[in-house]
Amino acid sequence: MAYKVRFVNPGKLYRQLKPDLDAAYFKVMENGNLIDREELWNFEGELAKFVGTRHAVGLNSGYDSLHMSLRACGIGPGDEVIVPAHTFVATASAVVNVGARPVLVDVGRDFNIDVDRIEEAISPRTRGIIPVHLNGRMAYMPAVTEIAEKHGLAIVEDACQSLGASQDGKKAGAWGVTGCWSFYPFKILGGYGDGGAITTNSDEVADFARRMRFNGEDRHTGQYHGHGFTCLLDNIQAAFLSVKLRHMPEWIEKRRVIAERYRAGFAGIDDLALPHFNGDGRSDVFQNYVVRSKQGDAFSDHMREHGVEVLVQWRKPYYRHEALQLEDRGFPETELLSSEVCSLPLAVELDDDEVEHVISTVRSFYGLS
Ligand SMILES: *Cc1c(COP(=O)(O)O)cnc(C)c1O
Repeated sequence: MAYKVRFVNPGKLYRQLKPDLDAAYFKVMENGNLIDREELWNFEGELAKFVGTRHAVGLNSGYDSLHMSLRACGIGPGDEVIVPAHTFVATASAVVNVGARPVLVDVGRDFNIDVDRIEEAISPRTRGIIPVHLNGRMAYMPAVTEIAEKHGLAIVEDACQSLGASQDGKKAGAWGVTGCWSFYPFKILGGYGDGGAITTNSDEVADFARRMRFNGEDRHTGQYHGHGFTCLLDNIQAAFLSVKLRHMPEWIEKRRVIAERYRAGFAGIDDLALPHFNGDGRSDVFQNYVVRSKQGDAFSDHMREHGVEVLVQWRKPYYRHEALQLEDRGFPETELLSSEVCSLPLAVELDDDEVEHVISTVRSFYGLS
């Protein structure tokens, strides 16, 4: 079915940015600058500046940024790492793939790790914690930091959904040993294929990631520092991302404006829980606009039937997929929200009519005009 309002519309955004994206493309192609060249280094500098860290290192996915970060922290077999029960599965898979064990913790009403439940999950084997900043809102980092310091844990921030979000003026991705970024096309800063990065204030961690992304080689000396991987951010993607990063401040503003229009449009619908939470010094960027309806699939089906492309992330929590062999210690909030969530379109390329159509479609489900 052809949706009236698509969840994201990369072609439409491309047409808006076409002169700059085309210029970036032709420059890379004509110079033959494909791997580890100026466009990558420039983008890394711009990303580090935007986040407020000393370094950014481009990698080829958000998953790889988590994976490299855990390796840089020396986390491996025999270790445990705290992760939220409600997140994209890659957060936990990165832990498993370095040989460690993810220990899941339930989330709170704002979809982020419940900081009051972290300490009960800590054991003598716990070495790290991955707070995930989901949907464009930071996990409550003052508490996470305090717990991590008390127990000597490394913090790796999964910031894949929260570029530009902040807490007390300090940006997501600037709190932990690393901040992990994904430039998957649907993300707030999306490339034209897979992409990722870490941000860090540590020279050692940045050097480690720069070598390990290139098979362990120090490209200046030719020396191998360990068995590495091939996981660089492509130069062409970096060139595109630089073009888009320049628009971030204005795009974040636009996301907030759309979120406010949704809030106003849905006011008074008791069944619908909206993603507007207490500040606590946090500033949200609305990567996703996730509402909760007790009517679950009936709500999301209604949206789709009326031309609004919505995503449901996720009806079945990842720890319930048997092949993943994860321990379900009982996560009541994750269980409940999983039956209720629905992500409405919230992208910078949405126009006023599309926003209105989303609002009227939600209202019509509740019999309102
Ligand atoms: C997208 C995402 C990832 C993984 O990013 P990829 O680039 O797809 O590997 C990890 N964690 C979260 C929270 C994400 O949203």
